[in-house]
Amino acid sequence: MESFKDYNFSDEINSALDALKYHEPTKTQQACLHALLEGKDVAVEAQTGSGKTLAFGLTILQKLLDSQAHSQNEQAADSSHPHALVLCPTRELAEQVTYQLQLLARRIANTKILAVFGGVAIAPQLSSLKHPPAVIVGTPGRLMDIAMQGRLSFKGLKTLVLDEADRMLDMGFEDQVDWLLKAINDQAQGVQTLLFSATFGGNIQSLSAQYQKDAQTIQVDDGRTHQHIEQTAYKVLANRRAYAVAALLSEHQPESAIVFCQRKQEVVELHQQLQEDGFGVVQLQGDMEQFERSNAVLLFSADCANVLVATDVAARGLDIPSVDLVINYSISDDLDTHTHRVGRTGRAGLKGKAITLIDDTDETKLIGFNAQLPSDIPVKSGLALRFHKNRIREPQYVGVQIDAGKKQKISKGDILGALAKNAHVPAKDIGKIHVSSHRSFAAIKIRSVKRTLLMFRESKVKGKRLRAKKLV
Ligand code: AMP
Repeated sequence: MESFKDYNFSDEINSALDALKYHEPTKTQQACLHALLEGKDVAVEAQTGSGKTLAFGLTILQKLLDSQAHSQNEQAADSSHPHALVLCPTRELAEQVTYQLQLLARRIANTKILAVFGGVAIAPQLSSLKHPPAVIVGTPGRLMDIAMQGRLSFKGLKTLVLDEADRMLDMGFEDQVDWLLKAINDQAQGVQTLLFSATFGGNIQSLSAQYQKDAQTIQVDDGRTHQHIEQTAYKVLANRRAYAVAALLSEHQPESAIVFCQRKQEVVELHQQLQEDGFGVVQLQGDMEQFERSNAVLLFSADCANVLVATDVAARGLDIPSVDLVINYSISDDLDTHTHRVGRTGRAGLKGKAITLIDDTDETKLIGFNAQLPSDIPVKSGLALRFHKNRIREPQYVGVQIDAGKKQKISKGDILGALAKNAHVPAKDIGKIHVSSHRSFAAIKIRSVKRTLLMFRESKVKGKRLRAKKLV
């Protein structure tokens, strides 16, 4: 069995890997890390959950350490330009990648890793660039805006990563990606270009052919998609889909489930229906404000909601641990999307379940999928499905939002301390705590929520009175 010790990483990286409890490389990492570390251009077929972020993160940071060691002997390294650039399709992915890289780089001095993305003001991002980051992770549109303003130069760039390249193209970023890659080509030499994509269609191959040098293509069959996932289709009447979802959720009682819909309006309606039925449910769709989306992801990943209803686009790139059950409210148009959805369960070889609802008109799509799969997805009748309200599984925690964060000098420790000492909440009643710039979030077991809210009303944290409320 391979270990990370076999890769001769620098001490700073080995100790971060130990601290993060990453001991063995995943299959995808084993398949690509050697080539990445040799400095080759590589195109890797990898899905979210395969460990791709760590694979390119290790490559970027080891190279950074090597060049720092080298420049101590020669002249000082040019630190005014980024050493590595990671392009991501969405803000959420950019933030997750940044966070993972920051964890990995925390033993490496002077390694600023900055996320830039659209949908928020550009000015704070421009001012963050004044103290030049070693690594920039960003969405193509915003990166292009910044570069066009002359605020970002690629001179000295060593590594370029295209993460979820297929999504980037699907989302219509082709022109921006093209612009950036051309600008990089013009300004920097010898850049190692790495491409990660869940699918390897013609457009990804031409992107690789155009911008990578002698690229090695690595496709990993980690067996997640079909072997560990039990797939079933249920035939239902079109107007009974929502009922069928409620019935399946009350039957399987998953701790976590994602229900995929094709359209935003379906998400809105199904979310409302499941809420009325009594499920702990959140939604993700493109019409939501950024803060609503972040809250939904927090609530779901902190076990404050068992069910997430989402469109494919909204669920892209989310770093949500494997879920127990995936339900396709409606079957997707193509097998790639179906495989992506289904891959949300059964990660890392765990057993997973995926259920697809079909009506008469969907049958031809299912037949098309079956023709390409190693075995047919069995079809059952949905007529016998029954929703039992008394069998709904309650979420483990309630989300509490606190109106203060890093900018107000509030840390995770401050919140834990206040919960334990001021509110006497036992440690086992406290779940995930997340502190962002102006807000914080704590997952609290239902029985301790009242005293938590009372404590924030009646006592101070770090000398300040903080407002807290239940997040729903
Ligand atoms: P990714 O495919 O980059 O989205 O990674 C999926 C998850 O796997 C992340 O939460 C990582 O923290 C985790 N992960 C990545 N590499 C390893 C590893 N070698 N051992 C254990 N967990 C890992």
